[in-house]
Amino acid sequence: MEKRAFLKLLSAAMAGPVLGPLLAWASPEKLKNWAGNFEYSTENLYSAKSPEQVRDFIKQQKQLKVLGTRHCFNRIADSRQQFISLKEMDRVVALDTAARTVTVEGGLTYGRLSPYLDGQGWALHNLASLPHISIAGAITTATHGSGDKNGNLSTAVAALEIVNAAGDTVNLSRQKDGESFLGAVVGLGALGAITKVTLDVQPSFQMRQYVYEDLPLSQLKDHFDAIESAAYSVSLFTDWQKQHINEVWLKCRLDQAPAFDAPAEFYGAKKAARNVHPIIELSAENCTEQMGVPGPWYERLPHFKMGFTPSAGKELQSEYFVPRRHAVEAILAVQRLGEQVGPPLMITEIRTIAADNFWMSPCYKQDSVTIHFTWKQDWPAVSKLLPIIEKELAPFHPRPHWGKLFAFSPAQLRVSYEKLPEFVALTRKFDPQGKFHNEFLDTNIFGPDA
Ligand SMILES: Cc1cc2nc3c(=O)[nH]c(=O)nc-3n(C[C@H](O)[C@H](O)[C@H](O)COP(=O)(O)OP(=O)(O)OC[C@H]3O[C@@H](n4cnc5c(N)ncnc54)[C@H](O)[C@@H]3O)c2cc1C
Repeated sequence: MEKRAFLKLLSAAMAGPVLGPLLAWASPEKLKNWAGNFEYSTENLYSAKSPEQVRDFIKQQKQLKVLGTRHCFNRIADSRQQFISLKEMDRVVALDTAARTVTVEGGLTYGRLSPYLDGQGWALHNLASLPHISIAGAITTATHGSGDKNGNLSTAVAALEIVNAAGDTVNLSRQKDGESFLGAVVGLGALGAITKVTLDVQPSFQMRQYVYEDLPLSQLKDHFDAIESAAYSVSLFTDWQKQHINEVWLKCRLDQAPAFDAPAEFYGAKKAARNVHPIIELSAENCTEQMGVPGPWYERLPHFKMGFTPSAGKELQSEYFVPRRHAVEAILAVQRLGEQVGPPLMITEIRTIAADNFWMSPCYKQDSVTIHFTWKQDWPAVSKLLPIIEKELAPFHPRPHWGKLFAFSPAQLRVSYEKLPEFVALTRKFDPQGKFHNEFLDTNIFGPDA
């Protein structure tokens, strides 16, 4: 379908509050991931209501996976045998203002936690583009937002409670467990069920969001660092079709100096005169408030509002992390593929993320830039393009997002993670028989040479 007609259809389908994914969850339809691009391999889903139920159920099963809010685009969460959901375990357990942490149950979403925290005068350091996702699912896949100084969402984790394959509860903390903690946080769902997460919090803050349109690529080339550091969190959106970046989203904290003075022009881009969607043809109704209107952190850090469809809905996603020092070269490499990438693409987002120390994090010990692709749901076209993009990015040693679609061979993937052998050894302590393995993990992590 021609791009404009496709986007018009999509726009009509997504106007207003989100219903589709919620109904899909409750309906007798096949169990699918959020985007609906695949059906899970079993319908067996047990919903636990308490840590005891999690422990008892895990003890009884030979093979199972924990299902979060189903927002991954690949089969990392899939199971052929059995799912356990912690959706009903969504309480805030404790807000410890002296330690500056909040402990939550494993089924809570950022969308539910954030307004609670803000109401108590506290905030998280960052959020992804959408608040709808489970905290446990996000941290175990190294989900991220943007910002030069902001680590991905797992960097806020201070402690974890995990039910291992034997049905025993294991507690790990940043303070006490050193290396095992660093191995377990981005655990790819392979260590067991995360029943509690303790996150760092900070005093609540207000933000303003500004959007600029048509940033010349030449300006990006010459001023990438200055553009990225102009605000607390910066996102660049492009469709690679012109010699400019379509939109620059700047999310500024009101409590940080120097204040962004929101000039009419920003490195040659013009300040938007209305709220916009990252896909310019779509209605901005689903997007967080822009135009410099001040608001709480949790209503500015994500691009999409809770209660509304995030992104486009019927879509696919891929994303590659490359070392920050190669940012401009990597962006220009993809720009050269513009003609090929254009037809199935809805939009690309470029973000920066600070380095961390988690063994399986794509940002392990490296400041990173991410190049993300929101695709139409056209897998034949996308699957042909992914190897082409990966080849173009190869000189920069890209790592794919754990929850999105990629074409990397298991061997390529495994050499990207120097701590992989230690990670495999750690998972064996939690799960000696591979109860939490699935095809995705067996292929990409626990391959024959692991
Ligand atoms: C519209 C949209 C926008 C997105 N935006 C971003 C973005 O801005 N940044 C980004 O980095 N990613 C983004 N993502 C990707 C997504 O947020 C992540 O892939 C994340 O993992 C989703 O969490 P989930 O709970 O839905 O995971 P699921 O798909 O349900 O599960 C993912 C993994 O987490 C494991 N898991 C879930 N819960 C638990 C638990 N309690 N204990 C143990 N393991 C568990 C599962 O077993 C599986 O391995 C986006 C996705 C969508 C659909």
